[in-house]
Amino acid sequence: MKTYDISLEISENMPVYKDKPEKKPKISITRTLKEGTNEARIEADLHTGTHVDSPYHTISGGKTIEKISLDKFFGNAVVLDFTKTKGCITGNDLKKHSSSIKKNSIVLLKTRNKPMKIFDFNFTYLEKSGAKFLASRKIKAVGIDGLGVERAQEGHPTHNILLGKNILIFEGLDLSKIKEGSYTFYGFPLKIKNADASLVRAVLIR
Ligand SMILES: [Zn+2]
Repeated sequence: MKTYDISLEISENMPVYKDKPEKKPKISITRTLKEGTNEARIEADLHTGTHVDSPYHTISGGKTIEKISLDKFFGNAVVLDFTKTKGCITGNDLKKHSSSIKKNSIVLLKTRNKPMKIFDFNFTYLEKSGAKFLASRKIKAVGIDGLGVERAQEGHPTHNILLGKNILIFEGLDLSKIKEGSYTFYGFPLKIKNADASLVRAVLIR
């Protein structure tokens, strides 16, 4: 059995969405051993680094993080390799992997994105036809190695299609060392009341 850490490291100079300085986490030392114990404080967007979006993020009345059943955050996963795909992943692209996309599974999209290094304004994203295809397969969750699952789509239809069907969205995964194939995925959120998202520690096991 092998465990793969597919989470981004959290630090003050990590890449954040659209490189906005106000989205960078702030970490401060509040106490040191000289004063008794080492203690620190973090202030961060819930969409920092590796995180999961709850339906409430884009759906009025959608479920918030702490109300979602824990079995949504782990299970059988398939990593699909789209590193040769430029721009966006469409329904037709996903149809080629149709037999690997099983009901109740977690589908992870490995692309050319490198979220651990830089924020790429032209990151590869899941186009709305791809979201429709995945929603029709009744999967549990979708994950991608970009800091967002979509860009350049008016009204964020990819989020709406997936979250509207209670399909969770994991963003900011590091899939750079992961090969295409089947795994078990774990990515539990913090139990934050009324949250639209949560930072997670995401892991694959094979
Ligand atoms: Zn998000």
